[in-house]
Amino acid sequence: MGLFPTYQKSEVHVTRGEGACLWDEQGRCYLDFTSGIGVCNLGHAHPRVKDALINQASKLWHISNLFPIQGQKEVASTLFRGTGLANAFFANSGAEANEAAIKLARRWGHQVKGVSRPEILTFYASFHGRTLATLTATGQEKVQEDCGPLPEGFAYAFYNDIASVKESVGGETVAILLEIIQGEGGIQPGEIAFLQEIEALCRERGYLLMVDEIQTGLGRTGKLFAYQEVGIQPDIVTCAKGLGNGFPVSVMLGRSGLETFLGPGSHGTTFGGNPLAMAVAGAVLQEMMETPLLAKVEEIGEYLGEKLQERLLSLSGVKAIRGRGMMWGVELDTPVAPFVKVLAEQGLLVLTAGPRVLRLLPPLIITKEQVDQAVDIIVTTWRQVEVDESLSGI
Ligand SMILES: *Cc1c(COP(=O)(O)O)cnc(C)c1O
Repeated sequence: MGLFPTYQKSEVHVTRGEGACLWDEQGRCYLDFTSGIGVCNLGHAHPRVKDALINQASKLWHISNLFPIQGQKEVASTLFRGTGLANAFFANSGAEANEAAIKLARRWGHQVKGVSRPEILTFYASFHGRTLATLTATGQEKVQEDCGPLPEGFAYAFYNDIASVKESVGGETVAILLEIIQGEGGIQPGEIAFLQEIEALCRERGYLLMVDEIQTGLGRTGKLFAYQEVGIQPDIVTCAKGLGNGFPVSVMLGRSGLETFLGPGSHGTTFGGNPLAMAVAGAVLQEMMETPLLAKVEEIGEYLGEKLQERLLSLSGVKAIRGRGMMWGVELDTPVAPFVKVLAEQGLLVLTAGPRVLRLLPPLIITKEQVDQAVDIIVTTWRQVEVDESLSGI
């Protein structure tokens, strides 16, 4: 009897959070470089977001999408101003936003391109979610294992390899779906030339360019969306993790003209975009657009990157450091899970991305002092682990 053991749980029992700090049952403090997997971008218990939730909670929680929801118009128009896109569908999770994008691409493919079996190209080492369609879009066998039969209509190419993309598209292709930095796949940034060539190919052949910004979006890389740093303009953008700072909410944004393909009755959600979610997302966006937060992310993100390069790259067993903004991966030549456990014991919470990559997703409000503190803990702990291993003859 218990929870389905889908997650290997940490031994830290968190009871409270504020900013970039978490406290456990014993009152011990931890520096949070996970942000709840890239979700609490503004930090824990952010005053503006908390007030928005509490205010809305005393007015109206839920009425369903059968009624106009004022907050949806406001949040959508802020996102339109930030992206140049023109249509929004609100949902509850990243997978659902991607599911909506997949449906939209297929409907567009049937109705505009006249293909009977529309195919969407995605990438190896990508991550797009855990529903059947999105786990099939995810180019990782371990995510798909024993989940078959999988839905049809997906093909895969190698990331940062335009030749492989050109080989993998064909007459049935309707869309290319990709991350700007592959997150779960090991913090693998897309090269600018590669991403621009993909955009050119989409324009030339008439494919929808769909960017999954579920992890990279909402300031994580220093811009509202990571695609804005690489000079491309997607047709569809999905976004979730940072949008509600911990309140479950996601959105699929689409360019003008695509509204025709998700007409009345073609798609829906009971909870998506309810007044509580919109109040929170509105506050998150205000904080992001109206304060110098994004400039700060660029500055301190660069500082974090430099510190990691400077202090970790010379350590034996550290193979590579990749990332941007507040999204960094440290590739090791050994399994990373045991190291994550020791770091938690030392007061630093971090993530993994695949078996050998340490993933750092601090909240965007992290300070230089906290960056220094985290890097100190990583360096000291890594040295200690090495000593222990050599003593025990591993
Ligand atoms: C987390 C993530 C998802 C899935 O989001 P859920 O809310 O867990 O469904 C999809 N794509 C990317 C890039 C992600 O990082």
